[in-house]
Formats: sequence, structure tokens, C-alpha cells
Amino acid sequence: MITLQDCQALDAKDTLRALRAHFELPDGVIYLDGNSLGAQPKAAAARALQVVQQEWGKGLIRSWNDAGWISLPTRLGDQFAPWIGVDAGELVFTDTTSINLYKVLTAAARIAREDAPTRKKIISERSNFPTDLYIAQSVCQEYGLELVLLEPEEIADALTEEVAISMLTHVNYRTGAMLDMAAITAAAHAKGILCVWDLCHSAGAVPVDLKGADADFAVGCSYKYLNGGPGSPAFVWAHPRLINRFWQPLSGWFGHAAPFQFTPDYQPAPGINRYLCGTQPLVSMSLLQCGLDVFTQTEKYGGMRALRRKSLALTDLFIALVEQRCAGYGLGLATPREHSQRGSQVCLTREEGLGVDGKDSGAYAIIQALIARGVVGDFRKGDGAKHLDILRFGFTPLYVSFEDVWCAVEHLRQVLESEKWKRPEFNQINAVT
Ligand SMILES: *Cc1c(COP(=O)(O)O)cnc(C)c1O
Repeated sequence: MITLQDCQALDAKDTLRALRAHFELPDGVIYLDGNSLGAQPKAAAARALQVVQQEWGKGLIRSWNDAGWISLPTRLGDQFAPWIGVDAGELVFTDTTSINLYKVLTAAARIAREDAPTRKKIISERSNFPTDLYIAQSVCQEYGLELVLLEPEEIADALTEEVAISMLTHVNYRTGAMLDMAAITAAAHAKGILCVWDLCHSAGAVPVDLKGADADFAVGCSYKYLNGGPGSPAFVWAHPRLINRFWQPLSGWFGHAAPFQFTPDYQPAPGINRYLCGTQPLVSMSLLQCGLDVFTQTEKYGGMRALRRKSLALTDLFIALVEQRCAGYGLGLATPREHSQRGSQVCLTREEGLGVDGKDSGAYAIIQALIARGVVGDFRKGDGAKHLDILRFGFTPLYVSFEDVWCAVEHLRQVLESEKWKRPEFNQINAVT
């Protein structure tokens, strides 16, 4: 039996525990939703004031040069590049994940059309984050391709010579399952398939080595584990061997080789700068710096290796405590137990029919009852076929403690045992789940 004292002892030994002081977290809140919107770095409020009062207020237009606004997408990209195994000068922060995915998928479709015009398929996972599938559907329409949706165990056999592009998300948002990027990329390349990886639930959460895996393109967002703030710009990377082969489709002036020549004809910038499009949200992008700075701070504690070790210890503990203390309440586990297949979140399942009046699974109401107690996770609707809804808990090793895990599971146990989740106020569905 694991006890509260055991968890406190783990905290006492935790070499990363000082990092929590870099975050503004309200008292009484156990925040297990950093996989959806990361917590606020303490430095962000002062940085926001500086950008608004000084850089915008006093510097005005001069801040494009004096405050370095113009180079911020590349400077942030250079700072973050080593965390996903790429080199400085290869990565930019800009636009959203959806938009960046459109850019790289289109570039990949154009390359495939030139190199392998008979290939007509893009493969992805059926349970990929829907925006990825929606963007792929648009690219398929434009390029006469077909989107083929797979279960994870079907991916290996689906890598055939009919496939132009593999578009996969490294860590699944709904299950927390992590794919083997190096093995899938190698198998895909052996069949001549281009590989696009979405790192939304990986960046800052798990070790990633894009160049070690020889990936072709990657995108990911910064408001989840990178703690960039709501709507902070996403990143985009293309392998140097491919970067200059095509324009990306959103050929705006920031991606021009010489934007301030104001020439009528588009000339793409060499390298990743061609993936920029237009003027960026500088206030938001400036705050992202505070999130990335925390990661730079962690280097003295062992960087991603230490973060990963703690993340796995947190998710292991959560799974063990849920099984020990919440057995018999209809919860299942969607997240793999195998470390090499797990991201930084744990997803519990509940079957449809277990909710109030047998109508739904009750998962949404359980999450609402937990949030009312200050334990913030979230709910994701089941995929229909399996009739399993998801209770999702993200574990950010930067600011979640082992005692937090204990307390969260104790709240979950109390919510389930008391059946408080059945109250009407917890069964009202909000616009954002
Ligand atoms: C969070 C997430 C997104 C979000 O895309 P936006 O364009 O930022 O809204 C996209 N894809 C995946 C896999 C995600 O997890």
C-alpha cells in the first residue's frame, strides 16, 4: 500500500521540486491540465507589462528593431530547437498548429506529387486530434489524395508504396499513448513515404529527437507543456534536405527573402523563414519566452532526462493509487503501462451507461465534481465505436508534486464513494470541455 507519507518522501527527494516556484498557481488548486493549457510562469506578468508599457507604449514602431520583435520567431525557435533534436536556424514559432500543419502537409503533398505521383494516400490515426484530420482533408481535396484512418496497431502494415505521406501525432491526446517515432519513420522511409509528426503533446513533455529519427516535417503547439499562454504561437520545422524544395502555400511577406524591399514578386526566404506568413501576435509571442526560459533553467537539474524520469514516476504513482484506492467504481485505463509507450498524461475510461439515469458515462460529471474541489483535469468524449469516455489528467513535472498526485486520487475516491458527481450542477455540459 502506498501512503501519503510515501508520496511526501518522494517530494523530499525530488531534485526538480524547486521549479514549481517559477509558476503562479492558485492556492488550493491541483493542476492536472497542463497538457491542455500550461500554467502561468511567474515571469509572464512582468513581461506582459514590459511589452505593453515599454515596447509598445514607449518604443512604438521602433520596437520592431530595438526590442527585436522582427527576429522573435527565430530567436525562440533557436532556444527551443535542442529540446526536439533539431539545430538552431531550423525552427520558428509562428501561427497555430492547424495553420502550420497546413503548410507542411501541402509542402509534403507537392514533394510527393513531383517525386512519386502515383502515390495517393495520406495515412493517419482515427483518434488523432480532429483538427489534424480536418486540415488533411482539405489538403487531400486540393491534391487529389485520400485520407486513410487507422488504429495504432494497423500503422505498421499500412506503410506501403501507395502512401505518399504519414501524418501522425507522437503522443495521442485522447489516450496518452506514444508512438515509436524512430521505428515508424524508418519503416515509412524504407517505402518512400514522407513523415509529418505532430508534437503537440510531446514538446516539453517527453524526449524528442526529430533528426535522430530522420523525420521530414514537424509541428507542435506552445500553450500546452511549454506554458506559453493561451493561444501562444506554435512551431514548425522542416528537415534541411527538404526545406528549400517548395514554397509553403501561405506565401506571405514575412516568408519573403527580402520583405522590406516591397517587391511585387514573391521570392521565398531560404530556410525555415519561408514558413513565416504575416505579422505575428507579438504580445503573446513575447510571453512564450517566459515558458521557454523555465525549460532553459531545468538544464542545470538534468534537463529533459530528469523531467521524463519525474513524469513517469508521477504517472506510475497515479495509476497505482487509482487502482489501489478507486477500484470498483467503473474506471478503466486507456494509457499504456509500458513506459516507452506513455506520454505525460494518464487517461481513465468509463463506459457509457454508468452516468446519471444510465444516459452517459458519468465521466464529464466526475471531472466537474473534481474541478469544484480544485482538482483540474478534463473530459474527452468517447469515440463512439468503443463507448468509452475519457477522464484526462496531465502531469507536468515542472510543477506537479507527488503529494498532489496523492491528494488528487483521494479527491477522486471521495467523489466516487459519495456519488456527489451525480448532482445536477455537475451534469450541465459547458461549451468548452
Ligand atoms: C492541441 C492540439 C492541436 C491544437 O491546434 P491549434 O491550431 O492550436 O488549435 C492540434 N493538434 C494536436 C494533436 C493537438 O494536441
